Amino acid sequence: MNVIRAILFYFWQFTYAIIQNIIGLCMFIVYKAKGSKSEMYHHAVIAYIERKNFGGVSLGMFIFINKNVTGDRLHDMQIHEYGHTVQSLILGPAWMLIIAVPSFIWCGLPALVKWRKEKNVSYYWLYCEGWSNLCGLYATKEKFLTEDCKMRGRYGKPINPNHNKRKDIKGRKRKK
Ligand SMILES: [Zn+2]
Repeated sequence: MNVIRAILFYFWQFTYAIIQNIIGLCMFIVYKAKGSKSEMYHHAVIAYIERKNFGGVSLGMFIFINKNVTGDRLHDMQIHEYGHTVQSLILGPAWMLIIAVPSFIWCGLPALVKWRKEKNVSYYWLYCEGWSNLCGLYATKEKFLTEDCKMRGRYGKPINPNHNKRKDIKGRKRKK
């Protein structure tokens, strides 16, 4: 089953979603030539690269993450970036326009960076970023570890809004 899933994953990425995968592959070859380390992640490949003012980016099945990101932040970033890989499967050629371009502007435009900071708006507030978290969580079956992702990962809102409520109910039952 896993083999079939893998074949479908690669076939789909390199047909329907080929544009972003070609760009990703070229970038991957460049960073591999520079000696970047990489690993497989749910059929995708993550390269850990050296780049200033850079967090992570996903291009089809190729994911690039700053090699200085570690621990829980790395764990959550892998899920988030993998979400963009899943979006690539869903949207194919439209992925560039619907996800990559808005994401790139949202991430890098100084006015937007300033606005997020001043108004305390979550990075995941934007549809393509919040949706990516949900896609990543669904596909990897992982759970977020950082407070930022847990509390604001779903379009700026908690991933699991009823979590505390459920705990209360359990607590009450236990008291009885
Ligand atoms: Zn993103």
